[in-house]
Amino acid sequence: MIKRVLIANRGEIACRVIACCRQLGIESVAVYSDADRNARHVREADLACHIGPAPSRESYLNAGAIIEAALAVHADAIHPGYGFLSESTELVGLCEQHGIAFVGPTQDSIARMGSKIESKFIAKELGIPTVPGYAGADQDPARLEKEAIDIGLPVLIKASAGGGGKGMRIVRDVAELSAALKQVKQEALNAFGDDSVLLERYIERPRHIEVQVLADSHGNAIHLYDRECSIQRNYQKVIEEAPVSHLDQAIRETLYRHAVGLAKHLAYRGAGTVEFILDADTSEAWFLEMNTRLQVEHPVTEMITGLDLVEWQLRIASGEKLAFSQDQIHCNGFAIEARVNAENPAEDYRPEIGQIQLYREPQAQCLRIDSGVLAGSEISPHYDSMIAKLIAHGSTRGQATQRLLQGINDFAIGPVQTNQDFLASLLTRPAFHQVLTTNYINEAFPSGWQPWGELLHIAIATSAWACQRETRHDSQMAESPWQVMGNWRLTTASGNPATSKLWLKDGSLVREVLLRGSCGRYEVQVDDDSVSLQLNTNGDGSWQVEYQGNRRRLDIHFDGDTVSLSSPRRNSSYRFVSLEECHLGDAAAGAGGNTIRAALPGLITDLLVAEGDIVEEGQPVITLEAMKMIHTLTAPCSGQVTAVLTHAGDNVADGKVLVEIYPSE
Ligand code: ADP
Repeated sequence: MIKRVLIANRGEIACRVIACCRQLGIESVAVYSDADRNARHVREADLACHIGPAPSRESYLNAGAIIEAALAVHADAIHPGYGFLSESTELVGLCEQHGIAFVGPTQDSIARMGSKIESKFIAKELGIPTVPGYAGADQDPARLEKEAIDIGLPVLIKASAGGGGKGMRIVRDVAELSAALKQVKQEALNAFGDDSVLLERYIERPRHIEVQVLADSHGNAIHLYDRECSIQRNYQKVIEEAPVSHLDQAIRETLYRHAVGLAKHLAYRGAGTVEFILDADTSEAWFLEMNTRLQVEHPVTEMITGLDLVEWQLRIASGEKLAFSQDQIHCNGFAIEARVNAENPAEDYRPEIGQIQLYREPQAQCLRIDSGVLAGSEISPHYDSMIAKLIAHGSTRGQATQRLLQGINDFAIGPVQTNQDFLASLLTRPAFHQVLTTNYINEAFPSGWQPWGELLHIAIATSAWACQRETRHDSQMAESPWQVMGNWRLTTASGNPATSKLWLKDGSLVREVLLRGSCGRYEVQVDDDSVSLQLNTNGDGSWQVEYQGNRRRLDIHFDGDTVSLSSPRRNSSYRFVSLEECHLGDAAAGAGGNTIRAALPGLITDLLVAEGDIVEEGQPVITLEAMKMIHTLTAPCSGQVTAVLTHAGDNVADGKVLVEIYPSE
């Protein structure tokens, strides 16, 4: 058995492999760049080696530096994790040269599957259907253009050496073809040092389905069931699950046969994944590619099979035989994984950087957390934005989803922004329980995801305020508690529950909110959106809020008419204001910079200026009687009055322009 493993990676996967080594009694060696001196994987390993500066190219992607480190600490094996050098024939070659075991397949398997062109050719030879297209050696632009037209648009141009969703482009219009080909070739050359491309028919409603395989160096190869990774953004996986739902058993069996057939043909060694694309409309399934490494999403397979894939990678690399046959592997329940990234999903998933100060992992039944960070960890701009994976198991898919949601909500990370709210919104849509396609995210959020945080926080603040007043007044009065609230207007329709209108100030913005409900169950309407939620106080300043089947704990603080909410990822404060105050706020703001409008319908009682007068900002200009009160409207800016459009005694409508001012410089 291997005694000392160097893990040529960082983040959660390095921690994952280190934990497995510890269980097996194998010593672990971490490697780190300048940016990772204090990283979690470095602290958790038995030994650690510095391998270079922060940029990956000079550290985690530097095969020479990795081998030097392995030799320096006398490691007898290298585990590459995923990404970085996990599919590098150079690293495997160097390992062979220095008598170090590579925890992965042979150089030959990696080389043959690493090229999308060659792997497609091999699959075809084995009778595995591949996406219709062109994957030929002739890369002449004229030939490629002709082939694309023969395939029929839209086509997908893919860099043969591409990976991780990079080097792909859809072409829907013949006019764009030539330029797109040139561009993908240029990008492929820059990124992968190889400009060959292949062309595939673009499947409009694709499902991404993959089969996990495991093979030893004694000719045994089995599959460990399937995974669905259709929920993607920019061709990258976001949510993964096992086994695949809504899949015909005959198709499933065929995919297993193809995957194991390919592994056997390659004399494959270790863990690998054979990816397929399935047309949701026709149920045709095609080979996409084979990944010759451990995948990010391997834990879902571990949860349904009970096997530890990293353990088996290490055993296989030590020369052990698989200890089980295909019929001894059972699929138990359902598992779903969500990738928690430091990113802002509302801004095209822009990666976020900074120090994680708050870090509290959720603890729940059947929930696993594979994380690469701790409180105090720095999220640097040099590496991938994934910081942890949450994986939940359940006896049904619904139960697994519910547990995952709970885990996402209870995972406290801050102040670095993460995609947790985005992940939760993906899991709470009814469409999540239907056939999934890679269009899922675009269909769910056609104009991009926006945090429901703000809307929900307003709804929570409003409900909590109402809830608190209800309990406060219930004991004192028999009538509806709403009646004692000056800033509420009841618009009770006969037979319907009362709807109350109120106004809250969010910074300088005043929002009108409609609220219906009582006793902890409310429906709140803000603009055109409406939120139904349930809330209960825990009596210690913390509250339980349930929204879309998804429960969250929040601290809510009341100070007069101000309600402040704090959750791990968002703090907000709102002040409930009277109708008059909210309209006066509008009038003072001028609603146009240099005009004064009637913000309420009312009677002009006095005009304090005439055309041509010079006024100072804030100077009283008009008095208006409305709602039995006299309101003074003031100049929104300093300048000269250019028009007075009303007279004392006029009844004016809401919104009417009363005075215009030409602002001074
Ligand atoms: P990579 O190696 O970069 O991961 P893949 O070939 O595995 O690239 O494809 C990644 C994703 O791109 C797939 O999961 C799928 O969403 C999409 N994709 C790939 N090929 C096609 C195709 N022919 N039609 C539609 N979508 C595709």
